[in-house]
Amino acid sequence: MRYFLAIIGGGPAGYTAAELASKAGKDVILFEQTALGGTCLNVGCIPTKSLLYGAKQYYNAMHAQKYGVTASSVTFDFAAMQKRKTIVVRKLVAGIRQRLNNEHCTIVNGSAAVSSRTDAQVTISCNSETYEAENLMICTGSTNFVPPIPGIQDNPAIWDSTDALAAAELPASIIIVGGGVIGMEFATLYHELGIPVTVIEAMPTILPNLDQEVVQILLDKYRKSGINILTSTKVESIDGNKVTAGGETYEADKILVSVGRRANLKGLEALKDIELNRGAIVVDDFMKTNLPNVFACGDVTGKVMLAHVASRQAEVAVGRMLKQIPLQRIAYNAIPSVVYTNPEIASVGLTEQQVHDFYTEMEGAAGIAKAGGIEAFYEVKKLPMTFSGRFMAENDGETGLCKLLVDKRNHTVLGAHLIGNPSSEFIAAASFAVRMGYTVAEMQQVIFPHPTVSEILHESLYS
Ligand code: NAD
Repeated sequence: MRYFLAIIGGGPAGYTAAELASKAGKDVILFEQTALGGTCLNVGCIPTKSLLYGAKQYYNAMHAQKYGVTASSVTFDFAAMQKRKTIVVRKLVAGIRQRLNNEHCTIVNGSAAVSSRTDAQVTISCNSETYEAENLMICTGSTNFVPPIPGIQDNPAIWDSTDALAAAELPASIIIVGGGVIGMEFATLYHELGIPVTVIEAMPTILPNLDQEVVQILLDKYRKSGINILTSTKVESIDGNKVTAGGETYEADKILVSVGRRANLKGLEALKDIELNRGAIVVDDFMKTNLPNVFACGDVTGKVMLAHVASRQAEVAVGRMLKQIPLQRIAYNAIPSVVYTNPEIASVGLTEQQVHDFYTEMEGAAGIAKAGGIEAFYEVKKLPMTFSGRFMAENDGETGLCKLLVDKRNHTVLGAHLIGNPSSEFIAAASFAVRMGYTVAEMQQVIFPHPTVSEILHESLYS
């Protein structure tokens, strides 16, 4: 049988593409070597959120006095948290399989490799069988990057995020190398469960890609609560469970290395002519590679390594493959992201630093000076989250922040940056505004339900 579409990788990109193309009546085959759902569902987003939720329940119970509740002898059972995490993941994986089965998509469990390709056909081998398809979609994801730090290889004290999620027992203490998204989420998990945490970050700040005003609030809170966060500190070497960084030696039971991920190109060796950029597959606006019948979506493109971007890329790619008019593109300027620290950070659009860079590039130094400074081009509208009644009711001792960046010439919202719980649940409203190019006046016409923390978006527009 010759399939219309072969997909390698069953993560958010792969399973979304498989479901959509199958729904459209096409013959689709999907190869997955481990479990459907990919990194996000099996060893990423969902298991971390599941454990983080358990940790938050424990932490909140320990700090319940401020809400008038006294909980005595609060304990937690890490094995039970892990068991629950496994059940959540298993159910979701089964749900994806069911959805694909409903659409009559063929699923092959095994490690697939491209054996040959012409503009008319791609041949794939898997489990000693050969499969042919008109189109190929590469959704092979990414793997943890192991930096070339002496002492990191074959060291039983070293964990990556997958090891940390699989661990049957908590470490007695932990050093986290890399204060990015993974690093800060695990720092939250361990800290809330009472484990001493040291974060070592090479850049002058943690979460360097986020709006730094918001990040500073988290940094101050985490340092005050006892997490040892070292910035501008590069790890020089590791010896067993000792880390040398910035001329000092730090010791912990385990060392979690979370310094980024790299595109996974395994099994694609036969695609010798595929264009790569810094080890990731280059794609056009429709997720098409330089090879006419080959598409790529998700982390393997190295664009934005987020599950929701991967699934949106898959929608765009399938639309292009099926020649659906009008063709869609991805709004890379309106991608929301959330860091599941406590409090959560949620953002969409440009950060203030990016706004600076954008106008500096557009106007040049002379243009900015002539206008009277960069402030002539954008304004910041911001309020502490304590302006929201619901936030005050539920977040004792927290201040939070809602910061909106607005273009001064056309009054559109360029970016929104929030810290405070549960900002992950309403950042989508700001995404909508950024994506649709809404002005402040248009956004003001939207009614937000009361009392919800989301009202802070509306309030901030008047600040
Ligand atoms: P990251 O790029 O977010 O952070 C890596 C951090 O490590 C950076 O801050 C970097 O400066 C630092 N670093 C690099 N080399 C270092 C060294 N030698 N010593 C000390 N610090 C060093 O990468 P990540 O946290 O590994 O996450 C990987 C990907 O997964 C990211 O694209 C992330 O967005 C995604 N992810 C997303 C979520 C979410 O959406 N909530 C959660 C987890 C992961």
